[in-house]
Amino acid sequence: MRVYLDNNATTMVDPEAFELMKPFFCEKYGNPNSLHKFGSETHPALRTALDQLYTGLNAKDSDDIVVTSCATESNNWVVKGIYFDKIATGEKKRIITTAVEHPAILATCKFLEKYGVDLTVLDVNGDGIVTPDQLRAVMDENVALVAIMSANNETGMIFPIKELAKVAHEYGALFHTDAVQAVGKIKIDVQDLDVDFLSFSAHKFHGPKGVGALFIKNSMPLSSLLHGGEHMGGRRSGTLDVPGIVGMGKALELANKFMDYEHSHVRRLRDKLEDALLQIPDVSVVGKKDQRVPNTILASIKGVEGEAMLWDLNRAGIAASTGSACASETLESNPIMEAIGADKELAHTALRLSLSRFNTEEEIDYAIEHITKAVNRLRGISSTFAYAPEWHKSGL
Ligand code: PLP
Repeated sequence: MRVYLDNNATTMVDPEAFELMKPFFCEKYGNPNSLHKFGSETHPALRTALDQLYTGLNAKDSDDIVVTSCATESNNWVVKGIYFDKIATGEKKRIITTAVEHPAILATCKFLEKYGVDLTVLDVNGDGIVTPDQLRAVMDENVALVAIMSANNETGMIFPIKELAKVAHEYGALFHTDAVQAVGKIKIDVQDLDVDFLSFSAHKFHGPKGVGALFIKNSMPLSSLLHGGEHMGGRRSGTLDVPGIVGMGKALELANKFMDYEHSHVRRLRDKLEDALLQIPDVSVVGKKDQRVPNTILASIKGVEGEAMLWDLNRAGIAASTGSACASETLESNPIMEAIGADKELAHTALRLSLSRFNTEEEIDYAIEHITKAVNRLRGISSTFAYAPEWHKSGL
């Protein structure tokens, strides 16, 4: 059996979205900016996709959503755009973010420190989030941008974005949220959240890879990252990826359609898997179930090195992760676990399991069986884990 439990890294393209993308590779492949029929015949599908995006996020206008190549680009664009517009001009000095942001935010902010940005990186509390009071404590009128994610890629913890944006606005700062792990998993309404910028990426909600977007409230001015042609109203140059945009629009529409299913079926399977893991002695899971997106588990399994666990699971056909895919080649301990205050040993024993609406009950039963087997095998050969007698008696 092959079981994919790494949906926070990327997801399968929904077959319905894929079907809609197909004609735009070999039939309707014109450049939408061209004046001939080959170009103009792409327009209806592009318009539908952009409508699906702004309806899906409840943006006021389709011009408020600018398509990019990925959320890494969207995140870079916001941070660097604000740097050029507000900090390099001397208007303001500061950017505030959190220690658990994706590197697309954190590394960009750190890069800009060299160019004079006064950066504040907030630690998360024991629950793995930042509270409005924590943010208020470091705010002043000199803050140009607050960048805080909507949900964490490792823990799945949901941040109180509406309240955090309100605090930023009280001090005249702009507010960005990286909603990559939230879109498609929890309802996102940009007007209700009142954020100024929001990044998302199609491949995290069953759309294609290589296409994302940035929501910009009221199409406010923001220096471009990519200069060139007049694509996307001159805001983001580069020939439009028509099949990608078509796939992203449909994928968002489908994700919203399946939102209740995500919170019933996916949540039930996630909870079943989590409860089974917690039956194993010395296993803990980060964050309360209700405060997380419904698909994610970040577990720590004492005495079991995360990488060794992945090896055993991979042999059984199960895909999981020890941390975000972007950092997994470094074999470093999980930085999010460290940021939320777990000790070094726990940080090395992280296992992230992330489900999707395509997972079945049989797959979860299979995963429970093989994770349990792997824990037993790896603890059995661990030189550091004391094999508890009651554990032994449980017959595992
Ligand atoms: N932000 C978060 C929270 C993510 O989880 C990821 C990908 O893992 C990204 C940004 C980067 O997204 P993309 O792959 O579209 O560049």
